[in-house]
Amino acid sequence: SLQDTTTLHNGVKMPWLGIGVFKVEEGPELVHAVKVAIKHGYRSIDTAAIYENESGVGQAIQEGLHEAGITREELFVTSKVWNADLGYESTIAAFEASLNKLGLDYLDLYLIHWPVEEKYMDAWKALETLYKQGKVRAIGVSNFQVHHLETLMKDAEIKPMVNQVECHPRLTQKELMEFCLEHEIQLEAWSPLMQGQLFENPVLQEIAAKYNRSVAQIIIRWDLQNGIVTIPKSTKAHRIIENASVFDFELSKEDMAIIDALNQNHRVGPDPDNFD
Ligand code: NAD
Repeated sequence: SLQDTTTLHNGVKMPWLGIGVFKVEEGPELVHAVKVAIKHGYRSIDTAAIYENESGVGQAIQEGLHEAGITREELFVTSKVWNADLGYESTIAAFEASLNKLGLDYLDLYLIHWPVEEKYMDAWKALETLYKQGKVRAIGVSNFQVHHLETLMKDAEIKPMVNQVECHPRLTQKELMEFCLEHEIQLEAWSPLMQGQLFENPVLQEIAAKYNRSVAQIIIRWDLQNGIVTIPKSTKAHRIIENASVFDFELSKEDMAIIDALNQNHRVGPDPDNFD
């Protein structure tokens, strides 16, 4: 079910499926989307300081919890420190600002958004401090390649619990997946639906027809069977519900392999080795 979780290396449980809110502006549409998600069983919400919508997410959480009759502890809230705030003191301050905007007294997961060279190590030290203070239940990174993780782990006291990266059938991230598995770092897919660019793909359409599911559901199911946490974004109620209706069917090994074979190492987002 939507409440199924993976256990991070520190024992914290993280839902396999959540809702992402990238590019959803502060306002009624955002609040509605997050509330719809909570109402329909979503327990994980992915935002970031740079999305400039943490206040709206906070409002939706407060209203959504009330309406669904559940407690804060049942939710898993993720935010991320933006590049401009990477540094020890500045990351601590950015975390406090996010917490305030969200109206929460702790986060479930806080991530370094991008591996800005020369800066991410100080930021990591700040995340370790926040974690030890109990202000965040798990800490991790985003857009880290194997070499970034290796560098980080050389000096880290606590290894990242999660690495959130672009991942979809055109960018299957197999090498990173292996590395993360070996180091007990949970891989999480951003833009799992390739921001809408996969819906016309004939191979995926054929598989979707075979299972009588939508292409979105096939891709989300493929994430789950690969052991990848996934956070598809939609603001439309029927799609939010559709994207979560993936716990009652299973893709065959053959179909998993067919989807894996769509890989072209093609990105929709920036290359973590060459951004800014
Ligand atoms: P996505 O791959 O989730 O695709 C979203 C698009 O697909 C939207 O246009 C939506 O309307 C459409 N869509 C969703 N469900 C659909 C359905 N069932 N049928 C038809 N269309 C559907 O793209 P995303 O928003 O870029 O990624 C998901 C989340 O990942 C973001 O919201 C954000 O939280 C996170 N993210 C993180 C980073 C990072 O650097 N860490 C970068 C990008 C996104």
